[in-house]
Amino acid sequence: MLFGQDTAMIYGVTLVEGGSCKIKIVVGAALAHEMMHAWIRLHGWTFTLEKSVEESICDVVASMWLDYTADENDPSYTENNARFAKSLSRHLKNSIETGSSGGEEFLKAKHAVEKYGLEDTLMLVVITRSIPE
Ligand SMILES: [Zn+2]
Repeated sequence: MLFGQDTAMIYGVTLVEGGSCKIKIVVGAALAHEMMHAWIRLHGWTFTLEKSVEESICDVVASMWLDYTADENDPSYTENNARFAKSLSRHLKNSIETGSSGGEEFLKAKHAVEKYGLEDTLMLVVITRSIPE
């Protein structure tokens, strides 16, 4: 989806240029999402999750990454970069919350991760094949 193309559309943001701040935030969120898919595959889950369940977990990880990285106190950011980063992060989180996994499933997964933590949520997903309440 991303590599090998001159432009990429990720979470509704087109990457043509826009400086390292934009690329760091947008590509980082996409990589966090895709790394969660990779983690699931590498852990040998022998069952197939419903797409909305897996996508919602991956979207929560991308959202967590945005919380972590789009910090206005990032020492590499100028004042303008920090404002831009905060705004872009807010836009991406909104896209994620209403995006591929569907708003309701994302909120359910986000709540589960807040309640149980990511590791325990993943264990409960393995047991129940669904997002825990
Ligand atoms: Zn995905």
